Amino acid sequence: VAADLQQETTELLQRLIRCNTVNPPGNERVLQEGLAADLRDAGFEVELRGAQPERPNLVARLRGAADGPTLCLLSHVDTVLATAADWSHDPWSGDLAGGFVWGRGALDMKSQTAAEVAAALSLARSGWRPAHGDLLVVVVVDEEVGGELGAMWMCEHHPDLVRCDYLLNEGGGAVIPYDGERLYGVCVAEKGVFRFRVLTEGVAGHASIPKIGDNALLKMAPLLARMGARQPGYDLTDGPRALLESLGLEVNGGVGGVEAALQRLRANDPDLALLVEPMLGVTLAPTRIWGSEKINVIPASAELRVDCRVPPGLGEEHALARIREVLGEDGYRLEFTEERVGNQSPVQSRLMDVIIDWLQMNDPGSRVVPTILPGFTDSRTFRDAFPECVAYGFFPHRHMNLYETSPLIHAADERIDVRDLGFAATFFRDICKELLDG
Ligand SMILES: [Zn+2]
Repeated sequence: VAADLQQETTELLQRLIRCNTVNPPGNERVLQEGLAADLRDAGFEVELRGAQPERPNLVARLRGAADGPTLCLLSHVDTVLATAADWSHDPWSGDLAGGFVWGRGALDMKSQTAAEVAAALSLARSGWRPAHGDLLVVVVVDEEVGGELGAMWMCEHHPDLVRCDYLLNEGGGAVIPYDGERLYGVCVAEKGVFRFRVLTEGVAGHASIPKIGDNALLKMAPLLARMGARQPGYDLTDGPRALLESLGLEVNGGVGGVEAALQRLRANDPDLALLVEPMLGVTLAPTRIWGSEKINVIPASAELRVDCRVPPGLGEEHALARIREVLGEDGYRLEFTEERVGNQSPVQSRLMDVIIDWLQMNDPGSRVVPTILPGFTDSRTFRDAFPECVAYGFFPHRHMNLYETSPLIHAADERIDVRDLGFAATFFRDICKELLDG
């Protein structure tokens, strides 16, 4: 069965990659209709619903014999663009070469769509139906530009179709080698986004006489220097606290304890420390700046844009306090341009227990650790819409580790080891039985 499932998942992924769904424009319809036909034939009730005819979302339900929890396997099938000239295989070839499937979406995240759908098909075709609760397979469009026509639209317009108690999505699962161990990250939370502009003012003048004006751009220099010198103080939320503990880095006593834990991690494993650090607090990254329109005019105003990420559950007031802590109170104005509070699911749950048990069986000696994403996925939308839902990012890979997969996402030569397709599809098949038959 395992070999068949790996083969089916591989072929399905190749098919999905060959449908170009670069977003914009997305054009996911043909791909979605193909999946819908397969799922319907296997016995699922399937709905295609979208804000635009060319961009339907897919919801497939396998009803259980009795009431129980709804498990949702979620994925998105749009991708970012790809520049074919930079690739060693055409990004829409879906080539199978060297033990990998190559193409845009091979990691983010048509691979997970393929594994989830192949697992669901194999269960349904074998005659399996949930004893308690429903199995949902939800495949959305439009994630790569924020999900407005995908997860957000479905949760707003068709909440009854997609409501669920457990959700598995992208965001975690690649094995992390650490101190001789094999750790699997389960993503339990996502940071919020509080992007802002900083404005400074001065007086215009001819640039040939610098002191005749008051240069607004120069007033950015100390602000930039402060952001270069440090990040705001830590805000340790549940996920990262549990992560540090499972790395053997217990945090004792407030902020000093977090810094001490991070320093020990840096000494042990600087690569992992680099990834863990942003999970521990508000981060500030200045990315864009504007001054004068003309080379010979001293700017009377300047604008700086900062991408600011905030731990789950913390809002504008908290973000502002952390920003002021670095930038100071005076010499600039600040306006938020985008505000979204991050959210989280409990670290401990039935879903987490089932993941832990599965890995003990299927990769003995490995361990599960909670992680949080500095970015965000559709999980955030589901957590907001269904506050009781336990949503995790988890797609187990063992043959390619986190340091091998991460640089390929949104990059050239994106590819996945076919053994990981089999591994993940087996996980999704087993987890359905475990959660819905138990
Ligand atoms: Zn993605």
